[in-house]
Amino acid sequence: MDFTLTAAQQDLQARAEKLGRSFAEEARAWDESDDAPYREIFDRVDAEGLLGVAMPSEYGGQGGGAMEYLIVVEALFRHAQSWLPPEPVFCTSGPGPSMFLLGDDAVKDKYLRDIVAGRRACNIALTEPDAGSALTHLSTTAVRDGDDYIINGHKSFLTGSNVNDLNATFVRFDYIPGAKGIGALVVDASMPGVEIRRGPVFIGDRGINHGDMVLTDVRVPAEDVIVGPGQFSRLMTAFNLERLHNCGFWLGYSQAAYDEAAAYTQRREAFGKQIIDFQSVYHSLADMWVQIEGLRLLAYRAAATAIDGRFPRLAEVTQAKLFGATVGPQITLKAMELHGGYGPTTDYAIQRIHRDCVTNVVAGGAPAVLRNGVAAGLFPDRRFSQA
Ligand SMILES: Cc1cc2nc3c(=O)[nH]c(=O)nc-3n(C[C@H](O)[C@H](O)[C@H](O)COP(=O)(O)OP(=O)(O)OC[C@H]3O[C@@H](n4cnc5c(N)ncnc54)[C@H](O)[C@@H]3O)c2cc1C
Repeated sequence: MDFTLTAAQQDLQARAEKLGRSFAEEARAWDESDDAPYREIFDRVDAEGLLGVAMPSEYGGQGGGAMEYLIVVEALFRHAQSWLPPEPVFCTSGPGPSMFLLGDDAVKDKYLRDIVAGRRACNIALTEPDAGSALTHLSTTAVRDGDDYIINGHKSFLTGSNVNDLNATFVRFDYIPGAKGIGALVVDASMPGVEIRRGPVFIGDRGINHGDMVLTDVRVPAEDVIVGPGQFSRLMTAFNLERLHNCGFWLGYSQAAYDEAAAYTQRREAFGKQIIDFQSVYHSLADMWVQIEGLRLLAYRAAATAIDGRFPRLAEVTQAKLFGATVGPQITLKAMELHGGYGPTTDYAIQRIHRDCVTNVVAGGAPAVLRNGVAAGLFPDRRFSQA
């Protein structure tokens, strides 16, 4: 088992680290104002050649896979100390864009080059007000009418709802019940009948909205179906990239918290010595680092064992995401504690890092639901009920 990154991967990592550092000074202002210059962020990620990092070169992508995706987002999360610079990578190469690779040539040819180039960035729209974890209970409908589908429903918590153009949207086709009725199609935010709402204000992940999309008799051409009904598990294979993105988040943010704590504890003095010289402090830093290394092994294994190098396997990526969502907030909370009374003040980055982490605990799948998945894999003969 070789844990060494290739020369090309190391180069990619170095470029993403450098780009991430160039954003670090701005993260505080974006958080405080809950407003970020998203197009400018997009253009800077593009200028460094990091859009479409895991998309095929025939559609203008960088031709990388799940590993390259993870390397880039981890480095951006860590060094920018902000969730925003990895978003252009997500919207040009993450789960929404990757779903198109499961579609037919017509839908790929119509959309993918624009998405990969960042001309029409693509959200993912699964969640509904009454169906989050219970994705198989979603109620947004797509009903055939001639050459079109008529869409009605309500999607919520859509990251980037106010700035992205396209939504890879999960719908129920022709009222078919259960998972077998679910597929995905493209909803362009500018279509008649699409209403984008601001959505709730979050304590973290601030700068662009996680808003709502209300769909009233939206007419979508049948050629814009990405994956039709009866292929739910195939559709979810692309969604596993969402969980890998989450792993990059936990890995990058845990290291950002460690970086902040390591620097602060070597500056701050108490009882006439640097606080890092108290055993409880250097043991805390050692524990943090071992948790980070454990997460790194799980996350990199999920990427390394991805199907065709592209879509992480469900079992591995679920375990990695669950571990990240478990240890990530512990690490950021401990790092904040090591800052003493200064930690929760807005003068220090650690409180923002912690708020962003807490905000993301359920994003992309609640820990309890991930545990259901891990347990189901361990005991395949028992069909544990989700209900
Ligand atoms: C920052 C952020 C960004 C997001 N971005 C997007 C996005 O871009 N697109 C999108 O579609 N969605 C997005 N989401 C939505 C996210 O995926 C959902 O919030 C998540 O799937 C949980 O759904 P819910 O909020 O309805 O919680 P619920 O499903 O109501 O779950 C609440 C709690 O109930 C328990 N629970 C529920 N079901 C089970 C079960 N079967 N077994 C055991 N316990 C259970 C768990 O403890 C769970 O934490 C985002 C969310 C956040 C916080």
